[in-house]
Amino acid sequence: MTSNVEWNLDNSYARLPDKFYSQIDPNLVDSPELVILNETLARSLGLDPTLLRTEEAIEVFAGNRIPEGGIALAQAYAGHQFGHFTMLGDGRAMLHGEQITPTGERFDIQLKGSGRTPYSRGGDGRASLGPMLREYIISESMHALNIPTTRSLAVVTTGEPVYRETELPGAVLTRVAASHLRVGTFEFAVRYGTGEELRALADYTIERHYPSVTSTNKNRYIVFLQEVIKRQASLISKWQLVGFIHGVMNTDNMTICGETIDYGPCAFMDKYDPETVFSSIDRDGRYAYGNQPYIGGWNLARFAETLVPLLHEDQDEAVKLAQNELSKYSDLYREYWMSGMRAKLGLFHGKGGAGDGDEVIIDGLLSLMKKYHADFTNTFRSLTMDELDGKEMELFKAPEFTEWHDLWQGRLSEQEETTEDSYELMRRSNPTVIPRNHRVEEALDAAVENEDFTVLENLLAALSNPYDYSKVQREYTYPPDPKVCAGYRTY
Ligand code: AMP
Ligand code: MG
Ligand code: MG
Repeated sequence: MTSNVEWNLDNSYARLPDKFYSQIDPNLVDSPELVILNETLARSLGLDPTLLRTEEAIEVFAGNRIPEGGIALAQAYAGHQFGHFTMLGDGRAMLHGEQITPTGERFDIQLKGSGRTPYSRGGDGRASLGPMLREYIISESMHALNIPTTRSLAVVTTGEPVYRETELPGAVLTRVAASHLRVGTFEFAVRYGTGEELRALADYTIERHYPSVTSTNKNRYIVFLQEVIKRQASLISKWQLVGFIHGVMNTDNMTICGETIDYGPCAFMDKYDPETVFSSIDRDGRYAYGNQPYIGGWNLARFAETLVPLLHEDQDEAVKLAQNELSKYSDLYREYWMSGMRAKLGLFHGKGGAGDGDEVIIDGLLSLMKKYHADFTNTFRSLTMDELDGKEMELFKAPEFTEWHDLWQGRLSEQEETTEDSYELMRRSNPTVIPRNHRVEEALDAAVENEDFTVLENLLAALSNPYDYSKVQREYTYPPDPKVCAGYRTY
């Protein structure tokens, strides 16, 4: 068969030492069918969406066929899962290679659910349709929210069942990522590799994601560490600012490039409560909403440890250098978060200094939101639309809220920018639509149980413009019925 799809693949990862991956034989599936294709993403990758609907492309998405110029490999990595170190690796994923886009960018094309690999341990290497569509919806929504993330190009069903608690339709997701290099990749290198292999990985990662570091005349590995810490602090602040709960922030699920990765038990918070946990396996709330910034720091400490052999010849000095960088994380995070919270409230810049009073405004609102069980997204949306008549939320009827509102308005009036400027900033900073759990579940039920993809497509359309206040589709902004959603769990 002649090849029509013009893949433009390179395999730089495969040029790393062998230890970092295993070449695999594709695991063929019966009768793959395309259920969703991201045409916009396809075009940005330099791929013709029409050709991606052909049988040849569908075979590629299913892992039955290696694309021209591609490979089939599973990446090795380790990681701390809920605090415990384990050897992992792609147990159900396969890297086809890196697509070079028309603008010269490089993106991993990876299949998730493509069958067993040498790292599968007891698993079947497969995925079911619901979770793959869930990753598609949430990752694409994160992208529309301007949050760095892996993306979703396509989902195919395999025509084969997978067995979980029940029999489910099997599916494969094609994930697109700046790379799949993880904190866990470095943990693998330092634990199972030689010093040279660790250095090769670090140099490769710097070249791929932090090219400006190469020109530094300081210690490049320290600058690398600084930059990774910055990107993670920024990323996690963005999660907090939209109420995203990752759910399984193990070190193998933290990328070095600063993209959100691994949409498993993640979910968006409705009512504001820092203790919110949805994941059924997170029994102690390690990965609760309010704990995410701290866990980010914990994971970065695991990353910094892996770099110690590279930071200084004297290992005691190296540890001090790493600790010095890590000690900056919480202030950095706080800075990103404060600046994001200011924007959510229409405040252009701090009045200067840390204790400038904005904390009082921000923390004051959050504690009222918690007290009155206010919906996180809708509180900020209502403030943005100046719709505070109390019909939608108890919070707005509270006398303490009136006091808070006066304080906030007073602060707004002190800045040079006009009120309209502030509301404009708020419209850019407060999403109207997020992938609410009950809407996601509704879309997945229709798709998986009735093969009806219209609910999903409508939801995706609504999520694609979350900051557009001129086209708010009200029905997507309603919080769930508390009776129906009490105890909602993700898996
Ligand atoms: P996760 O919790 O999604 O980050 O996955 C943790 C590890 O389990 C990774 O090494 C995955 O590749 C592996 N894994 C997850 N599901 C399966 C599966 N069905 N078969 C084999 N390995 C899996
Ligand atoms: Mg993972
Ligand atoms: Mg996962």
